[in-house]
Amino acid sequence: VDSLTPSKRSENMSRIRGRDTKPEKALRSALHRLGYRFRVTSRNLPGRPDIVLRKHCAVIFVHGCFWHRHRNCSYAYVPKTNRTFWSEKFEGNKKRDRLTKLRLRKLGWRVLVVWECGIRDKQGIARSAARSARWLNSKSVWREIQ
Ligand SMILES: [Zn+2]
Repeated sequence: VDSLTPSKRSENMSRIRGRDTKPEKALRSALHRLGYRFRVTSRNLPGRPDIVLRKHCAVIFVHGCFWHRHRNCSYAYVPKTNRTFWSEKFEGNKKRDRLTKLRLRKLGWRVLVVWECGIRDKQGIARSAARSARWLNSKSVWREIQ
């Protein structure tokens, strides 16, 4: 169900493409404050993770809900026009994400996905950073949080 107003939608659309989007930066700062040190991007790694924590053998992706199709999330709506185009696009994105995760796992990396809808405000950022920290200190090899 598409529950977004047009202005919110365009804000969402412009924010979710490219590197260094705001929520991503915010999560990075929050993790930094918690004492985690990392590389911002590692171009050599599959999928170019947003955050790389070598010490923890872990990478973090901040996924935009629209492009990466966050399940049951209102930001992952399907535009009403050009449905074929969008569904092909989304399937391609999902396939690429699955492949990226697989390749990283094969290289021995643990993979965390943080959904962007969970880090839209200060509380969300703090909560997601705390959850990320818990995951980093666990043995879990793969998790999604929002
Ligand atoms: Zn979402």
